[in-house]
Amino acid sequence: MSGKRALPIARLELEAEAPDKPALGAPCNGCGVCCMAEPCPLGILVTRTTTGPCACLEWSAPERRYRCGLIAHPERHVRIGASMLARWAPRFVSAGRGCDSDVEITTAEPSRVSGG
Ligand code: SF4
Ligand code: SF4
Repeated sequence: MSGKRALPIARLELEAEAPDKPALGAPCNGCGVCCMAEPCPLGILVTRTTTGPCACLEWSAPERRYRCGLIAHPERHVRIGASMLARWAPRFVSAGRGCDSDVEITTAEPSRVSGG
């Protein structure tokens, strides 16, 4: 047992231009796999859902990466407390740290939605 959680890529409707998931511990590249797989504790609190994809996940076409909407545009996801979220969400979701997702994508052929 590797301890990793296998997830078929077909379950993940990733944008065509999204980067591939890096290895656990490597710098986060915004691939979106973790947030597609399941919401983090803050995402669960805000969306009141425990299954993925997280409704707060946003695709940034100019950056060609996913962003946490609670950091990028908190006002889109909460009615009150957006400015507080903007300040505290990065700490809660461990933004800027290495990839902490143990999800392992199991199929070689990705099933991705077209960009745009
Ligand atoms: S933490 Fe890992 S899986 Fe999640 S977006 Fe960053 S690189 Fe992708
Ligand atoms: S980091 Fe943001 S987008 Fe990702 S699961 Fe948490 S709340 Fe949702």
